[in-house]
Amino acid sequence: MENDYQQTWKRCLEIIKDNLNDDLYNTWFKPIVPVSLIDNELTIQVPSHFFYEWLEKNFNELLWRTIHEILGPQCNLKYSIVMDTNEGKGAETITLQTNGGELGKRNAHQTIPYNMGDQNRHGFNPYALPGLQKVKVHSQLRENYTLDNFVEGECNRLARAAGYAVAQHPGTTAYNPLLLYGGVGLGKTHLANAIGIKTKEFNPDKTVLYVTSEQFMQQYSEAGRSNSTNDFIHFYEMIDVLIIDDIQFWANRVQRTQEAFFHIFNYLHQRNNQIIITSDKAPSELIGLEDRLISRLKWGLAANLEAPSVETRIAILKQKLINDGIEMPYDVIEYIAYSINTNVRELEGALVSLIAQSSLNRKQITIDLAKEMIDQFVKNSARDITIDYIQKVVCDYFNLSVDSIQSRTRKREIVQARQLTMYFAKKLTKSSLAVIGAQCGNKDHATVLHACRTVSNLAETDKTFRAYVEEIEKKFKE
Ligand code: ADP
Ligand code: MG
Repeated sequence: MENDYQQTWKRCLEIIKDNLNDDLYNTWFKPIVPVSLIDNELTIQVPSHFFYEWLEKNFNELLWRTIHEILGPQCNLKYSIVMDTNEGKGAETITLQTNGGELGKRNAHQTIPYNMGDQNRHGFNPYALPGLQKVKVHSQLRENYTLDNFVEGECNRLARAAGYAVAQHPGTTAYNPLLLYGGVGLGKTHLANAIGIKTKEFNPDKTVLYVTSEQFMQQYSEAGRSNSTNDFIHFYEMIDVLIIDDIQFWANRVQRTQEAFFHIFNYLHQRNNQIIITSDKAPSELIGLEDRLISRLKWGLAANLEAPSVETRIAILKQKLINDGIEMPYDVIEYIAYSINTNVRELEGALVSLIAQSSLNRKQITIDLAKEMIDQFVKNSARDITIDYIQKVVCDYFNLSVDSIQSRTRKREIVQARQLTMYFAKKLTKSSLAVIGAQCGNKDHATVLHACRTVSNLAETDKTFRAYVEEIEKKFKE
């Protein structure tokens, strides 16, 4: 004859089964083993802590309704949890006592509808309610986007450091959410992936997931179509470190996706799970995103990725060459770095084209080949002459180091080179006097204005000087 508790549990299961589809029932109720029934307190054993939490969160109301029906109002439910130990599933159990009335209500709004149809459910695989074996989520991180490969510079120092801190202690630093923002091709996707990879290195147990905002949106609408929005949300709520790339994609659209994300965000944030977001704009400029979402983005740290300086551009090029095992003369590297200042993606593009050119045509990589190629390359993207480049041309002309212009020295030849740089910067770029001054040895706008006048005057009165100006000017047209 079966014991009381087994009988009781069997009757409970009948009710539960009536309320759930087979998938859910088989995944979450079949594995439960009844243990005892003492003084109207039913103890059931579940295979893991996660399993218990899942039941509590998703089936709590159903469970309570059921045991009330079977055992009457004065009843209690206890969970006995099989602990995972290093030696495998241990016999050790902990017991959690729950208080029916309270819990019964607590998560009611998140409860999965009991009569969920099970058509289509298999078509939507990643978000099907995870059985225990499916909890391992594929992180979708791009392996080659590591932190080691991400060259550090003034332009990304804060973002990189914050990312490192987050990777060490996801969710528990002040950088939650961590928002990485900056223009196209400045390394947002790379850095976000790198943080994810580092997080896993430091915290192998954490579930990390990278998705683009577009994927998230598609999954959400897919879930809506197949009636599994709750599954979708629960899936995301299980993630310890959630990385969403290019959130600006949602601006002025996909209201409901934004709402779903808002709920997931709150859920994760409350539980100290880490959220990492990238965007091409600062939070205050993200017009078209829901206000409450924007205000959440401001909770943590917004770190800007700026355009890299010429030194950083050279370092990035060198690193790519080392990674690819390719050698290239230094003056060629420098030439590329000086010519392309818009973003790192273009910088890489130029490098790749040059390598391709040289190997296709079996030509040596020389400065001439680089010039030929870069001119074609940048014609399309309307090459702008930069202050960096002007400095380099002027310094090369006088055989000075670029650093000397930045120094405070008042040596005549250096003052002259600095003034020429300022003059050409004013003439050939759209930069303001203040910006030019800041980049040429930290001078103010009045100094730049004075330099421009001096150069004009000298060029009119001094023949040698005029020759300098003309020759240098030619170099910019080469
Ligand atoms: P974004 O997402 O901001 O548009 P990406 O992360 O896609 O930019 O970066 C564009 C390319 O530039 C990628 O190939 C990336 O590896 C490279 N890149 C960007 N910043 C760096 C950096 N600091 N060091 C090395 N590579 C970089
Ligand atoms: Mg990107």
